[in-house]
Amino acid sequence: MAEILQILTYPNPLLRRRAAEVEEVDTALRDIVSTMFETMYAHKGVGLAAPQVGIGRKIIVFNPSGERADEQVLINPAVIDRRGAMEAEEGCLSFPGICGIVRRNSNIVVAAYDLDGGEVEIPAADFMARVLQHEIDHVEGMLFVDRMTPESRIAVREALKALEDSYGKAVVESGERS
Ligand code: ZN
Repeated sequence: MAEILQILTYPNPLLRRRAAEVEEVDTALRDIVSTMFETMYAHKGVGLAAPQVGIGRKIIVFNPSGERADEQVLINPAVIDRRGAMEAEEGCLSFPGICGIVRRNSNIVVAAYDLDGGEVEIPAADFMARVLQHEIDHVEGMLFVDRMTPESRIAVREALKALEDSYGKAVVESGERS
């Protein structure tokens, strides 16, 4: 069984860092990807970006159905076309207990590399388009709270503050121990 990684939570500064392009698709990368899938399943997520597990590389994994056959991996993904608009509620594994309304494009095309190093173009609509935009934001250091509607931003303010406080406390405690 593959190892499960810890998911970094807000406001860990690694979540704000822009990830580096992957230079080569090799065995090490495939190992990272399978660990990312196990981590995502363990947390009941539909998508996960490498920076969320402290890996500063442009890698995203997702699986909207949860069936192994539907596993998808995108290396160095970028949105190359976007149309339409939609608003829906979103959550994020790096923001436990927080969700809010986020406006996204309803139809996108993503260019990326697959796990064989081949170029792929993936059209996505609705829920899939939402998952992909959310995960691609992660590799750019952008978080879903940045895109929440003003009303949702206000509604989650206290919960964000609580995450900031408990993170600050954890940092102080680990500093005291070392
Ligand atoms: Zn997320």
